[in-house]
This record gives sequence, C-alpha cells and structure tokens, in this order.
Amino acid sequence: MANNSELFDRLAEIALSEGAYKAAVIDASLVETDEVFRALCESNACGMYGRCWMCPPDVGEIEDLMAEIHTFDHVLVYQTIGELEDSYDVEGMGETAKAHTALTLRLTDALSDLPFSKKLHLSKGGCQICPVCTKVQGKPCRFPDRAIPSLEAYGVNVSKLATSAGMKYVNGQNTVTYFGALFFNL
Ligand code: SF4
Repeated sequence: MANNSELFDRLAEIALSEGAYKAAVIDASLVETDEVFRALCESNACGMYGRCWMCPPDVGEIEDLMAEIHTFDHVLVYQTIGELEDSYDVEGMGETAKAHTALTLRLTDALSDLPFSKKLHLSKGGCQICPVCTKVQGKPCRFPDRAIPSLEAYGVNVSKLATSAGMKYVNGQNTVTYFGALFFNL
C-alpha cells in the first residue's frame, strides 16, 4: 500500500537521522524465532543472566515472548556499528553499546506519537538504561515504561533479522554491531 510505503520510508529516515547506521522496515513474518536462544542466555556469556529485569529469566518465558513477536505485522530494524582498536577493545565495545542504547531511547521518544495500534521495542541485551539494574538489589525496575528487553530474550534470530533487513550481522574486522527492532501494528 502506497501510504504504508511512505510511512515505512519515513520511519527508516527517522532512525537514520537519530544516528542509526542503517535502518529498514520489513514484514514481521520474515522474523524467525527459536527457543535455542534462551539456552544461550542461560550460558550467561554476557554476565547479565538473572541480573537485569529485561533479561532472562525475569523477562518472561521464551514460548510466550516468541508468541508475542508473531502477533506483529511490521518491524523497523536498525543497527549501530562501532570501530574498535582491536578485538580486545572492551572499552570501545562498551562505548558503542551505550551509543546504541541511547539511540534506542531517542527512537522510542521520536516515534512515541505515531498512531501504532501496538508496538514492542527490543534492542541489545542488558537494558543499560541504569548504570546498575535494580534487579541485583532486589528492587523494582526504575523505568518500567522505558526498559528495553533484548531481541535474544524474545528468541529473535538476529543474524537472520539482519539479512532480511538487507544488513550485515558482522561488519568487518575490529568492528562491533548492535541491532534494535521496533515491532508494530498499524
Ligand atoms: S530501566 Fe533500569 S532497572 Fe529497569 S530493567 Fe532497565 S536497567 Fe533495570
């Protein structure tokens, strides 16, 4: 539909203007989910398992979250790419992660007035809105209306999501790439 096409182009333009490296709206039916990603979270390679309200196990059962993903019609996919000094540049990875979280929050605000009938904004793991998630203090989430669940927690295959959106999942030596996705229905 022409009107939707214009809207989708506008959404991608907004994401780019807010700082995304690439952005595109795709049909949500192209998004693949798999419960295998919960096992990856449980392996706790990122150190956030059980330490963030927006990460497993607190974010919810993966079967329920995957089912929620498949109630959406469209998804705005966007990515942030950071340059690293080398593959051990943890500081550079952290700076890119912060920049991506800031982009996700800017996009949440920039798109808040659009008349979606429902929406779900997912991004990189660990939420990172607060320096330390209140989960580790046994206190409620400080910003439940802005907290950002991770794509992986919902079982989204981010590598295939990138391909479907015409983006690269990996962007070369000494780079780090993060993805965000705003699922929505009109
Ligand atoms: S908003 Fe803060 S308290 Fe809530 S999940 Fe995110 S980091 Fe944790």
